[in-house]
Amino acid sequence: MHRLLAFIAATALVATACNQAQSVALLGDWAATLGAASTDNWANPIAEGLAPFSQYGQRAGGCGTACGSRNHRGMDLHCPSGLPNVDPVKAMADGIVVGSQTDDGFGPLVVVQHEGTGFSSLYSHMEEALVVVGQRVVQGQTLGLCSNREGHSPLDRFETSKPHSHVEILTGEANDYENYLDMRKAGQTLDPWPLVSAQ
Ligand SMILES: [Zn+2]
Repeated sequence: MHRLLAFIAATALVATACNQAQSVALLGDWAATLGAASTDNWANPIAEGLAPFSQYGQRAGGCGTACGSRNHRGMDLHCPSGLPNVDPVKAMADGIVVGSQTDDGFGPLVVVQHEGTGFSSLYSHMEEALVVVGQRVVQGQTLGLCSNREGHSPLDRFETSKPHSHVEILTGEANDYENYLDMRKAGQTLDPWPLVSAQ
């Protein structure tokens, strides 16, 4: 009995030491993620210093369908080369890919959940998504190519404006694309430009 108690005590000590080491490691991961994705450390998704040609918020009247939705929930950034399928669209912060698909409005898109930070981001109007759901990405990693491609059809894709991509940030950690859309409809988007231009 005495031996058994000693064995249990020794096992508990080892377990405690392991848990402490694991906690320190997890805390390190969490701090690294938070540091990369906190609101004062976002990176421009296309090119440093490149300002959006169409800002977040209500667009000027008369825009019509040529500008998409009147209430613009993200920012539009031109492809620096002026060409589609050349310039990378990059992750604004570390995270995990929870959406990688094509839809009729956004075209090829990627959604990144910035775990532990309370934020998610969306990158759309790309030529194609180059990452898959479940993939971890780091700030600056290429997610797709800048293009202005909307929906499944190439029709009219370069008629309304020069090649560009549409990028959003929202407050909430999306689990998948549907979850992202629900939070978007609930008004949880915010202006990305002050975040990515603060560097
Ligand atoms: Zn847009």
